[in-house]
Amino acid sequence: MKRSVAIVGAGVSGLTSAILFAENGFETAVLAEEIGDETNSAAAGAIWYPYDVGPGAEVVPWALISYGRFLELARDPQTGVSLVELRVFSRTGPIMPPEWAQPFATRALEAGEIPAAFVGGFSIRVPLIETTKYLAYLKSRLTNAGGLITRAVRFNDLSELGNSFDLVVNCAGVGARELAPDPELEPHRGQVAIVEKLDLSYAVVCDDPPLMYAIPRSADCVFGGTNDISEDRQPDPTQTARIIKECERVLESSKAVLLRERVGLRPCRKSGVRVAAEKLGDGGTVIHNYGHGGAGFTLSWGCAQTVLELARGFL
Ligand SMILES: Cc1cc2nc3c(=O)[nH]c(=O)nc-3n(C[C@H](O)[C@H](O)[C@H](O)COP(=O)(O)OP(=O)(O)OC[C@H]3O[C@@H](n4cnc5c(N)ncnc54)[C@H](O)[C@@H]3O)c2cc1C
Repeated sequence: MKRSVAIVGAGVSGLTSAILFAENGFETAVLAEEIGDETNSAAAGAIWYPYDVGPGAEVVPWALISYGRFLELARDPQTGVSLVELRVFSRTGPIMPPEWAQPFATRALEAGEIPAAFVGGFSIRVPLIETTKYLAYLKSRLTNAGGLITRAVRFNDLSELGNSFDLVVNCAGVGARELAPDPELEPHRGQVAIVEKLDLSYAVVCDDPPLMYAIPRSADCVFGGTNDISEDRQPDPTQTARIIKECERVLESSKAVLLRERVGLRPCRKSGVRVAAEKLGDGGTVIHNYGHGGAGFTLSWGCAQTVLELARGFL
C-alpha cells in the first residue's frame, strides 16, 4: 500500500521535497496558502550560494548536493536553470573563495576586473535559477509524478493533518514560526528591483553593507538588495530607488529601466536550518524542513534528500 505524505508549503522547499516523495512512490499532497510564484521564494535572485543562513555542519553538504542537481537541470532550458559566472566582491579588503568552493572554477579577480566601488573579489561558476520559470517547472514535474497541489489552505496546527496522512512535512518558511511553533524564526525581508536587460555577462554580489547584487537573467536583470527584520511584503519605493542608484554606481551603467519590484521574507533561524522529525500531539509524525534563510534554493535538493531519508526511517 502506498504511504501518504502531506507537505505544508509550496515554495521551493515544499515543491522540491514533494517531488522526491512523489517520484519515490509516495502518495503526495501539497497544501499551502500560496503557491509557487506567489510565495516568498519567487522574490529570490536566485543564485546558488549559501548566504544569510544560520550555523550547521550540514549546510555545505546540502549545498553541494543541490549544486549537482542544478547542474543536471541546467541541461534543459525549460527548467529555468543555467550556469553563470558570479563575481563576489568586498568593500573592506581582499577576499578568497571558501575551501569547499574550489571545484567550481574559482579564481581571484585581477585588479582590472574589480570595479572602483570595491577592493577585492573572486569569481565562481554557479547555478542561476530563474524563479518564475523554475517554480513552474517544479509544479509541473510534481503533478506529472502524480502529486496533488491544493492552494489557499491555511493551517493553525499541524495536528489538523496528522489523522489523514501517514506523515506531515512542514515546509512553511517563515510561517513555521506560528505553525511549529518556533520563536527562533525571524523574517529577513528582502526587496529587489527587476530592471530591463543590461549588457552584463556575469552576476555581481557584495554583502558588505550596503548589500548589493545584480543578476542578469534571460529576459531582465535583478537588482538588490535589502535585508531587514520585517514582515512587510509591500515594496518600498525609497528602497527601490536606493537599490537602483547603488547598482548603477557600482556597475557604472546608464539609467536602468524599472520593470517590477518584489519583496520576499527569508526564513532565518538563529540556530540554523531545521530538518528534523517530531511527534505531533495526535500521535502522528512531522518532519520539519524550514529556516533556510537566504539560501533556500541553494540547499533545496540536499534538504529534501534528508527529509526523504528521515521519512523512510519512520514509514
Ligand atoms: C530578495 C531575496 C533574495 C534571495 N536570493 C536567494 C538566492 O540568491 N539564493 C538562494 O538560495 N536563496 C535566496 N533567497 C532565499 C530563498 O528565497 C528562501 O530561503 C526560500 O524562498 C525559502 O523557501 P521556502 O519554501 O522554505 O519558504 P516560502 O517560499 O516562504 O514558502 C512557504 C510556503 O508555506 C506556506 N505557508 C506558510 N504558513 C502556512 C500555513 N500556516 N498554512 C498553510 N501554508 C502555509 C506559504 O503559503 C508558502 O507556500 C532569497 C530571498 C529573498 C527574499
